[in-house]
Amino acid sequence: AKSDGRAHYKLFSEGMDQTIFEQIKLEQRLRKAVLHSDFYINYQPIIDMSTGSITSVEALLRWRDPELGVISPDKFIPIAEETGLIDALGKWVLEQALCDLARWHKHGHKISLAINVSGRQCINHQGESFSQILSKALIQYGIAPRYLHIEITETMLIDDEVQCLQTLEEVSSLGVDIYLDDFGTGYSSLAYLKGFPISVLKIDKSFIESALESNKDANLVKAIIIMGQSLQLKLVSEGVETQQQWDFLQKLGCDYAQGYFMSRPLSGKGLLSYLESKKEV
Ligand code: C2E
Ligand code: CA
Ligand code: CA
Ligand code: CA
Repeated sequence: AKSDGRAHYKLFSEGMDQTIFEQIKLEQRLRKAVLHSDFYINYQPIIDMSTGSITSVEALLRWRDPELGVISPDKFIPIAEETGLIDALGKWVLEQALCDLARWHKHGHKISLAINVSGRQCINHQGESFSQILSKALIQYGIAPRYLHIEITETMLIDDEVQCLQTLEEVSSLGVDIYLDDFGTGYSSLAYLKGFPISVLKIDKSFIESALESNKDANLVKAIIIMGQSLQLKLVSEGVETQQQWDFLQKLGCDYAQGYFMSRPLSGKGLLSYLESKKEV
C-alpha cells in the first residue's frame, strides 16, 4: 500500500512540477519587478463610431523582465492578484497613467482614460478605500473625475457583491464612470446589473470575432446592443479588426469601438503622435 501511495504521489507531482515551478519563478520575478518598476503602459484608442474621433484610451499594463522578455498581463495579473502584489501594481498604473493623461491634456487633447481594476483593489487596505485612492491621485495630477473610467468584470461583482457594490457607489459618486468589461462572458444577467452603478458595457471581443461568421453570434451582438440601449447604457465593442466588423457595429448603433482596425495599443509617445496626426485643422 505504501509503495502504491508513493507511485500515486510521483504521478501527481510530475504533472504538477512544471507549472508550479513556473508559477513560483514568475512570482519571485514579479516581486522584484514591482520593486524595480519594470513595467510600462500601452494605450489603446477608443473611437466614437458616429464621429470617428478618439474619445478615450484604455491603459494596458506590460511587464518587461530582463531575462524572460515581455510577459502578457493574462499571465502575470492572476499571479499579482493571488499574491496581493496587485495593490501596489494597481496604484502604479493609476498614477503613471494619470501622469501621462495630464501631459496629453496640456497638449490640448482632452481625452479620457480607462483603467482596468481587479476585484481585490475594491477591498479597503490599511484604512484606505479604493475611492480615496482614486480621488487622491486625481487631485495630485489635476484631472477632473469625468476624465477617468474604471473597467471591472462580471466575476468581480459576483465574488464579493456587498463590498463591491459599496465601493462602486463611492467611485461613481466621485464622478468616475464604471465600465463593465468582457460583457457576455460571465454569468450575470442585465437585470442583475441594474443594481450596480454601471454606465457602459464593453462587448467581449470573442463575440465581435465571430459575429460575421455565425448568425447566432451576430444576433447575440444585436441583442446585447438593443438591451444595453434600453437600459440607457453606452456600448463599446472591443477587438474590432476589420472594416466589415466596423460597418456591422455602426449599423447596429454601437457607440464606441476599440481594436486593431483603428489602432493597436501604443506607447505613451506613440499615442501622442497618433493624437497629433488626428488633430483637426
Ligand atoms: P482586456 O481588459 O479585455 O483588454 C483587451 C485586450 O484585447 C488587450 O489585451 C488588448 O491588447 C487586446 N486587443 C485590443 N484590440 C484587439 C483586437 O483588435 N484584436 C485582438 N485579438 N485583441 C485586441 P492585453 O493588453 O494582452 O491585456 C489582457 C488583459 O489583461 C486585459 O484584458 C485585462 O483584463 C488585463 N489587464 C491589462 N492591464 C491591466 C491592469 O492595469 N490591471 C488589471 N487588473 N488588469 C489588466
Ligand atoms: Ca479592459
Ligand atoms: Ca475586455
Ligand atoms: Ca479580457
